[in-house]
Amino acid sequence: MNFDLTILGSGSALPTSRRYSTAHALKVYERFFLIDCGEGTQLQLRKAKIKLSRINHIFISHAHGDHVFGLFGLLSTMNLLGRTAVLNIHGGPDVQKILNFYFDQFSEGMQYKVVVNIINNRSFNLLHSDKNLEVYSFPLKHRVPAWGFLFNEKEKDANIVKEVITKYKLSIKNIVSIKRGNDFITDTGERIPNAQLTVPAMPPRSFAFCSDTAYYERIIKWVEGVDLLYHEATFANADRKIAKQTDHSTAQQAASIAKKAGVKKLLIGHFSNRYSDLDLLLREAREVFPETYLAEDLETHTI
Ligand SMILES: [Zn+2]
Ligand SMILES: [Zn+2]
Repeated sequence: MNFDLTILGSGSALPTSRRYSTAHALKVYERFFLIDCGEGTQLQLRKAKIKLSRINHIFISHAHGDHVFGLFGLLSTMNLLGRTAVLNIHGGPDVQKILNFYFDQFSEGMQYKVVVNIINNRSFNLLHSDKNLEVYSFPLKHRVPAWGFLFNEKEKDANIVKEVITKYKLSIKNIVSIKRGNDFITDTGERIPNAQLTVPAMPPRSFAFCSDTAYYERIIKWVEGVDLLYHEATFANADRKIAKQTDHSTAQQAASIAKKAGVKKLLIGHFSNRYSDLDLLLREAREVFPETYLAEDLETHTI
């Protein structure tokens, strides 16, 4: 499909053979947007058959190891594969420090340029815009500065009905005008209403990513109504004190954010490896928000 999310890592600080640390790849048409880059991300990308050359933007939520330890290997491999295209990395000031170390130590012979877009803004902030998509950052509540990301697909022009192209011998100029919503006037002066010439485009899709964060109601307005919300759910209800102390969330708190924000679907992840049975977290979340699903490494969710 042309707007979907592949989970590359659904675990938290301690990666296991089943769950790598946090990394997601959002596919928007022909491009992939990488969100966080935990240890082993490049191996997971390989398993998911995602070509590194199709990634031009990496968004880093915060500078904890389980979200950045994969960056060095990934940057190095991109160079070994002969990359020349610019790579954009969006992250807080600490991410710049980490990358400076990489550039000092490992950038000899580097063939491509890395542009770092430092996020300093503690409110809702546009990070990137292209023909398909707008990406925004917003603050989360964690032990270090952390940001969530909102990916909003742009509204598309209506699709033209194929038969009318031959029927009215439409030129490219006519087609562009009709797709923008105009009626068509024939050579004999007859006005053909736009509604007879087009079918509406698919509604724009949206995805929001919130990890790592304590329960934080401020984010509700920013993720309101999204098609898919990924929210961390490190702990079960029984461990909510630890969640609070460590600025993480329980599955039920993630569900509560999803419910209050009126999202369509919730994906929970960043699970602590203390739980052998994640059905407990899923059950607790579904009590509050039934449309909740567990993130699993290498699964893809169409949005
Ligand atoms: Zn984490
Ligand atoms: Zn963290």
